[in-house]
Amino acid sequence: MSVRTRFAPSPTGHVHIGNMRAAIYNWLFARHHGGAFLLRVEDTDRERSTPEAIDTLLRAMEWLGLEADEAPLYQSTRMEAHLAAAERLMELGLAYRAEKGGAGSGECVLFRMPGRTISFEDAIKGTLTKAAENMEDFVIVRSNGTPVFHLANVLDDIEQGVTHVIRGDDHIENTYRHIALYEALGAELPVFGHLPMIVNGQGKPYSKRDGDAFVGDFRANGFLGDALFNYLVLLGWSPGDDREIMSRDEMVEAFVLEKCQSSAAQVDLKKLSWMNYEYILQLSDASFRSATREALSVAEIAATEEQLDAVIPLIRERVKTLTEIAPLCRFLLRDDYAYNEKAVAKKLLKEGVQETLAALRELLLEVSSFDAPTLNRLLHDYVERSGKGFGAVMPPLRICISGEQGGPDLCPVLEVLGRDEVIRRLDRAVEMFFD
Ligand code: GLU
Repeated sequence: MSVRTRFAPSPTGHVHIGNMRAAIYNWLFARHHGGAFLLRVEDTDRERSTPEAIDTLLRAMEWLGLEADEAPLYQSTRMEAHLAAAERLMELGLAYRAEKGGAGSGECVLFRMPGRTISFEDAIKGTLTKAAENMEDFVIVRSNGTPVFHLANVLDDIEQGVTHVIRGDDHIENTYRHIALYEALGAELPVFGHLPMIVNGQGKPYSKRDGDAFVGDFRANGFLGDALFNYLVLLGWSPGDDREIMSRDEMVEAFVLEKCQSSAAQVDLKKLSWMNYEYILQLSDASFRSATREALSVAEIAATEEQLDAVIPLIRERVKTLTEIAPLCRFLLRDDYAYNEKAVAKKLLKEGVQETLAALRELLLEVSSFDAPTLNRLLHDYVERSGKGFGAVMPPLRICISGEQGGPDLCPVLEVLGRDEVIRRLDRAVEMFFD
């Protein structure tokens, strides 16, 4: 039997990382077994499942590299089949019409639970059981004639030939009902695997209030799709050794459901940030360059190819999220940077700084060659000779030419800006802060 898994989201306009993790696990499981990964869009709630919401979902999947192997099945196109199945169940005496919400609310169709204990072997949680007395008949077609989630979900899984249903453990209660439906419909049961919840530090379901929770937020905040993918894979699963940064191939190779943890998985955004940094470091030069070009264009900072050649080495190992690129580059490409007020107060507006800057101006004007090693020697000599200490020399100079106290290494920055620009910026700052 060839493995077929699916991702069956209900598009709402946001894609929560918990849903995406389920998609990733289904994708990995299918790839591991050389099977198929399918998409089913559960878009029966027409108010929420707008074309934009569906587009958000598809873009999130594309960004994470989760391609489906067949065309998506849109649940809303299957209503006739769902209703026909409900009719069939009624003919078999396995479903019946009744008033559910009290007299006058109209008749719906209810599924008759078989009246026995239902047990199944969950691929992640082990044996799960629910006693007959705790299960009641349930609605499968509303009084307005629309099919209910349970019926649609099961029928579509049968239609798509799904062999493994991997989803959040908030669906366990549904699964008992679904198993009864499968049996009533005479269909073979898939294997079920229920994933533990993703929680915050207090053990509560992880939500927007705890930090970024939607895939689109991570993208907007400069995370790489591959980094988020890797992070989510490890949120509730481990390869069984201490590997953390893993290639797609390695993940596919190692992914087995038995290694999924059955208890809740806690989000650690710091770890994701670390991982994102590692992934950015691993980007090829061409990818980093195109990310830089894009970030600058969004920030409306113009840069020629020669400028990119000069600037990229300065920021290459400092970028932790792609959103840091433009702010890091700005002062290198334009002179309309702001001066950080705190830095100015702390390091610039100090006794003796104006004299230091005047001395540095002379040295920088006269130094034979304006390259980083020469400048480095020059500044070191000056620090030593003047007895002022690095803290009284480097930060003021840096603030004058960049507006900030921190940033890429100073001497390579001076080299890239060039002598004329450095002198111009020094003069401007001195005039602004001291005259
Ligand atoms: N649309 C349901 C959800 O998003 C489907 C659950 C499932 O069967 O995977 O929760």
